[in-house]
Amino acid sequence: MRNEVKIKNVQIGGNHKIVIQSMTNVKTSNHKKTLEQISQLYEVGCELVRVSIENNEDIKSLHEICKKSPIPVIADIQYNYQHALGAIKAGAHKIRINPSYLKENELSVLCKELKETGIAVRVGVNEGSTLKNMTAEMLATLAIKHAKLFQNYGVENIVIAAKTSSVKKTIETNRILYKETAFPIHLGLTEAGIESSGIDKSFAALSGLLIDGIGDTIRVSLSADPVQEIIAAKRILRACEIDKNYINVVSCPTCGRTNIDVLSLALAVENFAKDKAFPLKVAIMGCAVNGIGESRGADVGVCGGKTNSSIFMDGKRIKTVPNDEILQEIINVIKIKISNFNK
Ligand code: SF4
Repeated sequence: MRNEVKIKNVQIGGNHKIVIQSMTNVKTSNHKKTLEQISQLYEVGCELVRVSIENNEDIKSLHEICKKSPIPVIADIQYNYQHALGAIKAGAHKIRINPSYLKENELSVLCKELKETGIAVRVGVNEGSTLKNMTAEMLATLAIKHAKLFQNYGVENIVIAAKTSSVKKTIETNRILYKETAFPIHLGLTEAGIESSGIDKSFAALSGLLIDGIGDTIRVSLSADPVQEIIAAKRILRACEIDKNYINVVSCPTCGRTNIDVLSLALAVENFAKDKAFPLKVAIMGCAVNGIGESRGADVGVCGGKTNSSIFMDGKRIKTVPNDEILQEIINVIKIKISNFNK
């Protein structure tokens, strides 16, 4: 079992659910713009947000940000321990710092402050800021070494991370971290790329780890609007069957036997379902060949016929409707299922 770390009202590690986080990409010194972006991230499901701290203007602004943010704020410090102390004083709920360049006395002062306040710290390594061509073993060893520097000073709220832009190395490194430590793991690639390729790499790197129970908080790092990072993170958790609290629309790939417009129906049902947080499976199937089994296995299903199609609910065929009434009927049945949840 991983250690538990509390970040204001959000807990990670232990048996807690995987927490989704992102990072703002506006100047932290502009607290209005930063808070606007945090609010957009919160609206789409972000649970922790990181802001970069580069100077005293950022620290001044951080005070206002921490006071007004709807979610806990992580101050991203890099190397300057004075900035770390300033961020803690300004109300940061967690800090991220690279201890490589901290002098012994600086580390000691910082750790004393972390212990007294109980503020969490993320430590570890980012391959971009190390010697290149590190192996997974080297990355994991360095991250563990950094975490232990804090642990040796009695700091308990430690989150570990080892990031690289390589899918394979991300998988290997995090498997080592999981095996060798009990720190909660911050999972994600770094410098993953633009939205499309970054999402591909993140799916490839994170899904196997998450399914094996590795990873306590995730960030999908993209060169894009950070809102897209949250949407991608949610899609990964759903595809991995970790987040089941949504309407999962499955549909057949269509073929020469297809009797109904599967794609239009699936898109319309997805659109209806997108903001509804209920654990339901809806199957849109083009004919009876695989359609009956899949529709019976879902909470709501349709199995396309030549002119009329069968509608299923809870494994039973409940009615047959003309093909131009399928969409309305599926939505009616989904609404019935949702009202049953609300009873
Ligand atoms: S369910 Fe029917 S229409 Fe859809 S792919 Fe399978 S055989 Fe083809």
